[in-house]
Amino acid sequence: MNEIKPPRRSVIYYWIGVIILILVINLFIFPRVERAEIKDVDYGTFITMTQDKEVAEVEITTNMILFKDKDGKIYRTGIMEDDGLVQRLYESGAVFESQIIEEASPLISFLTGYILPLGIFFVFYRLLTKRMMDRAGGANSMMFGMGKSNAKVYVKSTEGIRFSDVAGEEEAKENLQEIVEYLHDPGKYKEIGASMPKGILLVGPPGTGKTMLAKAVAGEANVPFFSMSGSEFVEMFVGMGASKVRDLFRQAGEKAPCIVFIDEIDAIGKKRDTGNFGGNDEREQTLNQLLTEMDGFEDNTGVIILAATNRPESLDPALTRPGRFDRRVPVELPDLKGREDILRVHAKKIKVAADVDFNKVARMAAGASGAELANIINEAALRAVRDGRRFATQADLEESIEVVIAGYQKKNAILSDKEKLIVSYHEIGHALVAAMQTHSAPVQKITIIPRTSGALGYTMQVEEDGNHYLMSKTEMENQIATLCGGRAAEEVEFGSVTTGASNDIERATRMARAMITRYGMSEEFGMVALETVNGQYLGGDTSLTCSAETAARIDQKVIELVRAQHEKARQILRDNKDLLDALAEFLYHKETITGDEFMLIIREKSRARQLTVKEETPAEAAETPAEAGEAPVPEETASETGEGPGPEEAGSQPV
Ligand code: ADP
Repeated sequence: MNEIKPPRRSVIYYWIGVIILILVINLFIFPRVERAEIKDVDYGTFITMTQDKEVAEVEITTNMILFKDKDGKIYRTGIMEDDGLVQRLYESGAVFESQIIEEASPLISFLTGYILPLGIFFVFYRLLTKRMMDRAGGANSMMFGMGKSNAKVYVKSTEGIRFSDVAGEEEAKENLQEIVEYLHDPGKYKEIGASMPKGILLVGPPGTGKTMLAKAVAGEANVPFFSMSGSEFVEMFVGMGASKVRDLFRQAGEKAPCIVFIDEIDAIGKKRDTGNFGGNDEREQTLNQLLTEMDGFEDNTGVIILAATNRPESLDPALTRPGRFDRRVPVELPDLKGREDILRVHAKKIKVAADVDFNKVARMAAGASGAELANIINEAALRAVRDGRRFATQADLEESIEVVIAGYQKKNAILSDKEKLIVSYHEIGHALVAAMQTHSAPVQKITIIPRTSGALGYTMQVEEDGNHYLMSKTEMENQIATLCGGRAAEEVEFGSVTTGASNDIERATRMARAMITRYGMSEEFGMVALETVNGQYLGGDTSLTCSAETAARIDQKVIELVRAQHEKARQILRDNKDLLDALAEFLYHKETITGDEFMLIIREKSRARQLTVKEETPAEAAETPAEAGEAPVPEETASETGEGPGPEEAGSQPV
């Protein structure tokens, strides 16, 4: 590696500065101290002080007399012809000293005054330049060698990942398979005149396996894998990012055929500012360089660029136009089958009991991403080790889903009896309202053991048959009613309310708002889009696209909608007060009850009072609530009590 020479001028400035500093120190700071210490006096003063017996110590050299008074002050005077001096001094009681001031030899003072500081500054300079070079990747100094070739190598290991390791994502794999074939035999494509897309954009929520897919393409095609994250390009100094892009593509060009993977491309590929102040010059330069590089290399050179993002809408249109990232491969959250496959793939890495029902685990983990599922498997393994088991069991897996959804159990949180009772009623409220309506997923589990996320309890509902892509208006209303069930139970039983419903309120409001503003489910507004979704894959923030007046009317409608469902929930609970009491008491004592126990109590009570609980269709009215609860809803609903963040709503939203 060549040593990097910083530009001459900087070095010269540095040394001029150092020399000036040393001179200033030597000439002005230290000498002044010395002068202040030795006072020059005339010979007469010396004689007078001797007579007054003020001289404590004296030293006579060949060309001067140095003396100290009783206070320790040092004086200096010249030598004069004075015969009785020694005698007089002796009589005055002055002590003869050989050296009053320890004077260093001129050589030593030169060395300490000039050479030593220079040496210190030299060492400092070397350290500084070395650090800068290290930081810039060994060869490209940030400040000095801008734009020079960077010795950083971008080839990364694919870690042996193949398509078989990426579960679920069948469509994405199919799409990318073509790339693998092309990389195997580019000639075939050249012959017919087909050109491969230069860039492919993998879009989808975080943790769905985009990076894995990119690695798998390189792994399958057995070509080098160049990888860099968008944020790594963004540097402090303008031009550095662009030079990294140049470098990356130069290296890739040399190694073609190969895969270049740019993760989080939105970090550099964001829409460029349109004349606003405060634009990010560095990022724009980097993006421009990327565009130039993509245009620069010929079709069929064998360099395929894969990029991943979870904000496709924020990308600059120049990036997504044909000839650049013109192919878009969605990598969505896995469906039931996908979740099961992902669980199986990861379960191979740990020891699991033979009787584990992955389908059930996958159903419980509705809306989880691949990364979360991998995490669930790992949590289960950790739990097994903690409890001294040799392999993970079904219970470990189910518990780890709860850990991922709601956090760990808070073992030392002590609720007062009253609080425990309120939480019991709250959770049973959710479960009972869900069970008493059609189109609700069956209750899987109800617990009032506090979790580290802040939830004091929660009700888990799990779909029977997995995937749903559409939700009817009734289903959505029923879900809002279920969310209101907790608060309604508190009101019905205690006549007062608590803070425990905050998360429910938030979710119910969001759902009601979406019904009106996005799904056209209100009479008043009909099929008018009143909101747009901004980060489709990142929480789905929305912004209103209507007048303030309409916004006020929307608010009114949302309030009406939620209020109606709240009233419905209250009514259901009032009608089934005996069930509510019995279930809440059971939960209060057991702390965790399963869906089966829950349904059993409902059935027993129902039989006892010979009550038909179905209201909606008389044909179904004869059925027990157990069946009533089994009608599917496209979400796993885990209603929580407590302030903590609620579980994410599952991915399958109405379309
Ligand atoms: P992304 O790039 O989409 O954010 P990653 O590819 O980095 O996600 O995935 C993170 C981790 O999640 C992977 O290392 C893997 O363990 C797991 N994972 C995600 N999706 C899948 C999948 N489809 N199949 C198997 N594992 C997956």
